Amino acid sequence: MKLYILPLFFLVGMCAKPRHSEKVKTLKESIAYSDISSVETYISTITEEDLKSHVYEISSDKYAGRKTGEAGHNEVCDYIRGYYKSLNIKAPDSHSDYFQIVPKSALPDNINASQNVIAYIEGTDYPDQYVYIVAHSDHEGVIDGQIYPGADDNGSGTAAIFEMAQAFKMASNSGYGPKRSIVFLHVTAEEIGLHGSLYYTNNPVFPIENTVSTLNIDMIGRTDKRHENNQDYIYVIGSDRESTELNYIIQEANSNFVNLELDYKYDELRDSNRYFYRSDHYNFALKGIPVTFFFNGEHEDYTKPTDTADKINYPLLAKRTKLIFATAWYIANSETALSREVL
Ligand SMILES: [Zn+2]
Repeated sequence: MKLYILPLFFLVGMCAKPRHSEKVKTLKESIAYSDISSVETYISTITEEDLKSHVYEISSDKYAGRKTGEAGHNEVCDYIRGYYKSLNIKAPDSHSDYFQIVPKSALPDNINASQNVIAYIEGTDYPDQYVYIVAHSDHEGVIDGQIYPGADDNGSGTAAIFEMAQAFKMASNSGYGPKRSIVFLHVTAEEIGLHGSLYYTNNPVFPIENTVSTLNIDMIGRTDKRHENNQDYIYVIGSDRESTELNYIIQEANSNFVNLELDYKYDELRDSNRYFYRSDHYNFALKGIPVTFFFNGEHEDYTKPTDTADKINYPLLAKRTKLIFATAWYIANSETALSREVL
């Protein structure tokens, strides 16, 4: 028997490999921006200066570290809502005040009720298909009398969404609105166990099965030790687990617009840090949705009172935001919806 089994494996290997690589090649070649000059126009509205002013606002002492259920976090959620109102970006019909209340019963003991903040731009061609851009709004609060400002975690992600929302809205105002709907989702209670995103995915405001993809941003304004010599990088995590196409779209966005090093170190299934399981995209992944987690890795100020706005690398935050914007643009505007095939 062994004599027969060996050649059989050999044959299968020989036949299967070219077919797989051919599929990959065809898929890669199919991904191309048809509207590069429009993307360039709107990507250029994402600026270091705007990002800086958003990060300083979000991480300022008046929000007292944004602990879920506390006054400071409620106030920052008001601020986030006010931002969308000021841009005339609408709330879901079912939650016309932009807030989805996350009840006390959905949160750990001793945590007050809180809220996710939801705004969206309706798609022009496929309004019932949804691309999510997600960042958590909460942080650690005040511990032993010290405010934890969380400028990177997650002022950076919040600021990035603000800039992308503004860019998509400007495009929309000029007749280049996204073909699919884009949802800007600021989830609560991440730091205490991903509860805001869990509540959202179990109580979605839009039909969850119509979610095309979810891009989650949690800490993209700093750099880690591993990249001391090349700070132009971003960790990309989970991008090919539910859709090979999603991963290649990110690569196409990157090579067209920013040229960062896309570091897949933490994408490995057996990675001991388990980052894939540790931020809000994970609750979307549990629903079978193609997700990607954008992350800068840990640094010396991670979950410390020293995570302050002056330490953010704003030129780099702008580049990373542009990468995510170009990715979302492609997913929202491509002729065919993102494939869920995994090659
Ligand atoms: Zn975080």
